[in-house]
Amino acid sequence: MTENQAKPAAVPIKLYKSEEKIYPRETKGYFQNLRHIALFALLGLYYGLPWLNWGERQAVLFDLPARKFHIFGLTLWPQDFFFLTLLLIMAGLSLFFFTALAGRVWCGFACPQTVWTDAFIWMERLVEGSRSKQIKLSKMPWNAEKIRKRVIKQLLWVSFALWTGFTFFGYFTPIGELASLLWSGDASFWQWFWVLFYGFATYGNAGFMREQVCKYMCPYARFQSAMFDKDTLVITYDEQRGEPRKRGAKRSEGSETAGDCIDCGLCVQVCPTGIDIRNGLQYECIACAACIDVCNSVMTQVNRPSNLIQYTTESSREGKKTKILRPRIVIYAVLLGLLFAGFVTALAMRSSVQFDVLRDRNALYQVVGNDQIVNRYTLKVMNKGNIDQRYRIDVEGLPEASIEVANERVISAGEIANVAIQVTVPNAALRDRSQTITLRLTEEFGESPATMSEKTRFFGP
Ligand code: SF4
Ligand code: SF4
Repeated sequence: MTENQAKPAAVPIKLYKSEEKIYPRETKGYFQNLRHIALFALLGLYYGLPWLNWGERQAVLFDLPARKFHIFGLTLWPQDFFFLTLLLIMAGLSLFFFTALAGRVWCGFACPQTVWTDAFIWMERLVEGSRSKQIKLSKMPWNAEKIRKRVIKQLLWVSFALWTGFTFFGYFTPIGELASLLWSGDASFWQWFWVLFYGFATYGNAGFMREQVCKYMCPYARFQSAMFDKDTLVITYDEQRGEPRKRGAKRSEGSETAGDCIDCGLCVQVCPTGIDIRNGLQYECIACAACIDVCNSVMTQVNRPSNLIQYTTESSREGKKTKILRPRIVIYAVLLGLLFAGFVTALAMRSSVQFDVLRDRNALYQVVGNDQIVNRYTLKVMNKGNIDQRYRIDVEGLPEASIEVANERVISAGEIANVAIQVTVPNAALRDRSQTITLRLTEEFGESPATMSEKTRFFGP
């Protein structure tokens, strides 16, 4: 190259490819109806539940400062962490079970990311119109119409996101109180922070990032294929029937008979993750079944049988029978059944009273009068029931022992109280210098009084 020759302009290499916004086309059909039912049910539950009362309090309230989880008539304490663990294990196992059985049905119909994204897309359509109108608007220079539509859309999105954040926080603090605190401006910094934080997270995930959360952030999308087998339901394009795809006049050109796919591209346009299911099963597919619905409507229009795209299994496509009862399904179902039975039994047997025994640290024992030996204890009693309660305290394992309660009183529902007691035994009745005794608490009120016992030591000379 001579010095007079111009140097070619440097072409920057982009290491990051920005995602193009996807404008999913609206579609109707059997699966979309099911998805709408699921969407209304789940959102209705989410926004309505915190406003439901159960007796004097909110029906579902995770009261973290008081370390109590209220779920209708049930109150779980930190000591009941076991139940939460069981619930989480069952939720994980259910995900495995349903994935092995029906593929990504969770992603397409019940995942909060999908449900809230659908709600945001619905608002976008309401303001900006159909897919083609949205694309046209995005390419349009900024003018009064574009500004008006974008402002209305953002107002709707932000309000919905803030309401979502407020509702979410309402599961952790009584929602009526929270509403009046926010309204009167008396809410604390942290109350505002959490409402705004959850609102912002909703806006970011469902309004802004949408399908990118499923494609790049969700771990489930990555490992779900490990739970798939030949008999798992997946959404598939019937290549044998559809190919060679041809559109318009090309369908009658050439000697090759055109397949059923008229290459209209609608299955791609309705896809919320922007993939072409005709290229085979891809991890980006969230199994929303929009491509099934739209393709079925196309097939109806061109007088071809439906289900060119359908829910099917690999076995079925190979002409074999799909096995529903297979080892992994049976194992997941049995484990789930056992866990569920264990959960219900443990819940039914759960005592509404719990207590710990703390010995007096100042003296092992005290001799009163000539031969009375006294040991003092503090009982940390937790009333886990729903009514105020008084308790009868008995001692076992010490003949001739008597109990004196220093501060006997009614303990409110949900209260933890320290009860001071002293156990007195004649010296002659003691078998040993130290012996095990059992303290038993029995509820005095209620139809089926609960009882609980704890072992401790009694010391003598
Ligand atoms: S919607 Fe059906 S007919 Fe249209 S391109 Fe997709 S598979 Fe082919
Ligand atoms: S390929 Fe079909 S089922 Fe999968 S995400 Fe796209 S539209 Fe939904």
